[in-house]
Amino acid sequence: MERKYADIIIDISHEKLDKTFQYVIPERLWEAVGIGSCVSVPFGKGNRLRKGYVASIGEQASYEPGRLKEIADVEKNSIGAEERYIALAAWMKEQYGSTLIAALKTVLPIKQKVRKLERKSCKLLLDAEEAKQLLQSCEKKKQTAKARLLKELIQAGELPMPWITGKLHISSQTIKSLERQAAVEILSESSYRNPVKIENNASDARMEAYRKKKCLNEEQRAAADGILADFDAGRKDTSLIHGITGSGKTEVYLEIIEGMIKRGKQAIVLIPEIALTYQTLLRFYVRFGDRVSVMNSTLSQGEKYDQCERAKKGEIDVMIGPRSALFTPFSRLGAIIIDEEHESTYKSESMPKYHARETAEKIASMQGAVVVLGSATPSLEAYYRAKTGKYRLYELKQRQPGKELPSVRTVDLREELRQGNRSIFSRKLRELLEERLAKGEQSILFLNRRGYAGFVSCRSCGYVMKCPHCDVSLSEHAGGKLVCHYCGYTRPGAGSCPECGSKYILGFRAGTQQIEEAVHREFPGARVLRMDADSTRTKDSYEEILNGFANREADILLGTQMIVKGHDFPDVTLVGILAADLSLHVNDYRAGERTFQLLTQAAGRAGRGKRPGEVVIQTYDPGHYSIVHAANQDYQGFYEEEMMYREMLLYPPAAHMLAILVSSPVEKEGMELAAKIGKLLKESGADIHGDPLRVIGPAAASIGKIQDVYRFMVYIKHMDKRKLIEAKNAIEAFLEERQEKGKTGKETVQFDFDPLRSY
Ligand code: ADP
Ligand code: ZN
Ligand code: ZN
Repeated sequence: MERKYADIIIDISHEKLDKTFQYVIPERLWEAVGIGSCVSVPFGKGNRLRKGYVASIGEQASYEPGRLKEIADVEKNSIGAEERYIALAAWMKEQYGSTLIAALKTVLPIKQKVRKLERKSCKLLLDAEEAKQLLQSCEKKKQTAKARLLKELIQAGELPMPWITGKLHISSQTIKSLERQAAVEILSESSYRNPVKIENNASDARMEAYRKKKCLNEEQRAAADGILADFDAGRKDTSLIHGITGSGKTEVYLEIIEGMIKRGKQAIVLIPEIALTYQTLLRFYVRFGDRVSVMNSTLSQGEKYDQCERAKKGEIDVMIGPRSALFTPFSRLGAIIIDEEHESTYKSESMPKYHARETAEKIASMQGAVVVLGSATPSLEAYYRAKTGKYRLYELKQRQPGKELPSVRTVDLREELRQGNRSIFSRKLRELLEERLAKGEQSILFLNRRGYAGFVSCRSCGYVMKCPHCDVSLSEHAGGKLVCHYCGYTRPGAGSCPECGSKYILGFRAGTQQIEEAVHREFPGARVLRMDADSTRTKDSYEEILNGFANREADILLGTQMIVKGHDFPDVTLVGILAADLSLHVNDYRAGERTFQLLTQAAGRAGRGKRPGEVVIQTYDPGHYSIVHAANQDYQGFYEEEMMYREMLLYPPAAHMLAILVSSPVEKEGMELAAKIGKLLKESGADIHGDPLRVIGPAAASIGKIQDVYRFMVYIKHMDKRKLIEAKNAIEAFLEERQEKGKTGKETVQFDFDPLRSY
């Protein structure tokens, strides 16, 4: 007799269960169960019913068929995973290292069905005379609730149910009773929830500007046409649009998407930050109307579910959102556009630690779509691929006439100190700020605090305390001890600068709040808006601050890196960068790249309107190549210099790197496991002929303990990513074997390929 079997991914997050389990598909479910179906199966002790996803179906049992259990049922309220999501999850598990179920949950846009939105209303069925009679009889019988509702309905004819039960305080029993008397009827209309709430006649000044159809310049035209021509010719290479800030990349995206829609295709547009949703949406909405939607974590379950349904049914063509919008279930996907491609938010921080760029390329290749990356400051990865011919490169080198790049000057803060200026504002910045305030023009002050980790520098000569064995700065720990987080080197705090002997050698501490106070003190009367993690706790505060500034409710916008991303404020003519080197001396090989990106992006906020812009970069380290190239707005120069370092030290993209994080609540156990992994890697890595794995560590992580869990790191590097994936697989096998022998405590191991952060 023919029988069918299914391999099932059980919905339990446990490394031990990270494999599929085989079940018999009972004949009554043959029709209903397919690959990706969400089913319930008896599992474990007591055969409790568990949810699972069908990964594959076959006619061969891989165990003794008599001992296999049967699938109990198909889950009615859960959404199955389409076959391509199972394939994508399997790819993700292999590439990034995680359990299959964690990967599957990452790629499934939505797991639970949500009922459609129902709009119920109550309609009066009686004519005026009948209604009046009924009202009188209710009043006589002291049926006050009924009377109240009738009075309102006589006026309005029909009323929304939530208003009746809410505002009017009428119970559903009362309404039902009127319904039985055939006095009213309940109408209901179902519709999709739509998170896009823009009125087309909105008086938003930005909307007016966006409405005017732009005529693309030659560079823009070349990019849009080139990408569409590639698509038509079946060349599915990724394209990188390297366009200076304000060069009109978004106009190119709009053109590409219009082309895709003409070809019957759909597009996903990724943005680095939820805070940018509204302004991006506005531009796309003006062009494509209701065919555009958004997807992000601020939506309700119902809104998310409905956007997936609309996407599946082909009712929308464009989905805008952060990283997770990648998994929008379009069936005619033509393009995935990743704006501000260099942003680190495109990498997931939890397992699987996937990168949106690589995942987009996988999805695009599965669905015959193209990937388009855009940035003024491309990641070294993307530019490297463009330079080595893996990506197509399009350059946009100019802004619109009259909106040229701002002029930039660098101010040496050490010189300011020598001249007796202890303010956080250099004399030049103060002078330019006063000028703007007098003219009624807007300014942005940017405090570069990203990744700031208590480095110690000399205020007189700019010297930074570094590890003698590694090219990273030391971090200040409790009690003043200085520690290298890459090799464990420790030394006591410096009482004076080893370079110049000055006593002014300290950790840098300055927050946006202190700076706001300083602005108020030094520029009384200036209206200031502050934007940082503290002032944007609530859901809408981002937009409130940004809209407030766009509507000229303040003269100065002060903030951290949040304010530099992609915002377009035409009235800003001055950008002040308060301490450019703060992000430079974190113990991270990407510090130079990140600093260059932040400074260039911040500078790009100036002069986007009718008046030219100026930028002041204040720094203790004016000769640093990141700062010099950012001041010259010279990406190419920066890239070449940075790439030289990466090649010398074998950091990505010159090589691939895998960070292995071992955590344990018991310090000794974590350390021992990290040591075992290190040993395993050194032994197996030596086998690789010619080019062995480079193993660094184990060492304590830079944050050695988080919430009483100790953290240890092992890093490995190799030119060939396959080798790192093999090493990861070997570690996974080792951990599984260890578990089977029962030799485990509470240690966990996480993988991060080509990490964007330090641990
Ligand atoms: P980017 O995305 O590269 O930062 P934007 O697409 O936001 O640049 O363009 C910057 C400004 O220039 C916007 O106000 C935009 O409307 C305008 N702009 C871009 N391209 C054109 C064009 N071809 N003609 C007229 N205005 C343009
Ligand atoms: Zn010094
Ligand atoms: Zn070191």
